[in-house]
Amino acid sequence: MQVVLTDQTRLVMLIVLCGLLWALESIIPLYRFRYSRVRHAIPNVALTVMLVITNLSLSFSSAYLAGFTVRNGFGLFAFFGLTSWTQIILGVLALDLFAYFAHVLLHKSWLGWQFHRVHHSENAVDVTTAFRQHPGETVWRIFWQLAAIVVFGIPLWIVVVYLILSGLNAELEHANIKLNPRADRLLRLLVVTPNMHKVHHSRNQRETDSNYSNIFSIWDRLFATYTSSINFGNLNYGLDGFDAKERQTFGGLLKMPFVNY
Ligand SMILES: [Zn+2]
Ligand SMILES: [Zn+2]
Repeated sequence: MQVVLTDQTRLVMLIVLCGLLWALESIIPLYRFRYSRVRHAIPNVALTVMLVITNLSLSFSSAYLAGFTVRNGFGLFAFFGLTSWTQIILGVLALDLFAYFAHVLLHKSWLGWQFHRVHHSENAVDVTTAFRQHPGETVWRIFWQLAAIVVFGIPLWIVVVYLILSGLNAELEHANIKLNPRADRLLRLLVVTPNMHKVHHSRNQRETDSNYSNIFSIWDRLFATYTSSINFGNLNYGLDGFDAKERQTFGGLLKMPFVNY
């Protein structure tokens, strides 16, 4: 019951932030796209609803595994006898590291890319792109989350804290808003900023193959996949060959992993 309530609270927080960023996008946009924002949002919102349903349907697996692992003293945290404060910091970092691995493999494996290109075929990145994700990718990401829970022995409440931070940051980093360059440079010492993630959505593959980090920018620096900055005047979002209208509909995006273009 507690988990269900937490899920609802998370959902409300995400909807509120999405509304705020949607409003900000019309006040301080990074790019002025020539499209109907509502029509553009429809397939993304439909995929977001599928993501919420997939996550809710599988949330019992995280709850069960986290409870089982902690009760039985499994995982590295129990092995090293870490305090709650150390556990929250290292738990959030561990989940983020595994999210980085999950993301890199989505790019580096043939099957992963079939699914992940749904996210990357977006040619007008904005806040609604945050959860434009095929359900197959969602299952893959949950698998890596479960792996982190088992390896480290992460309690469920820390997983919930991580998911809240991850969801809010996903909306922020996709939002089509202009940031003060100095604030951006300062923030990205610690976290993935909107400008940093936008590089990952570039049509130029050299740029796409960088900036995989989810919340903390440290992973890209550590594994040498970091691109510091680019000329935003030349940035072109999307994937060549995927711009056709029929490929950008909800149905087109759902079948994208199973079609060879
Ligand atoms: Zn990606
Ligand atoms: Zn993205």
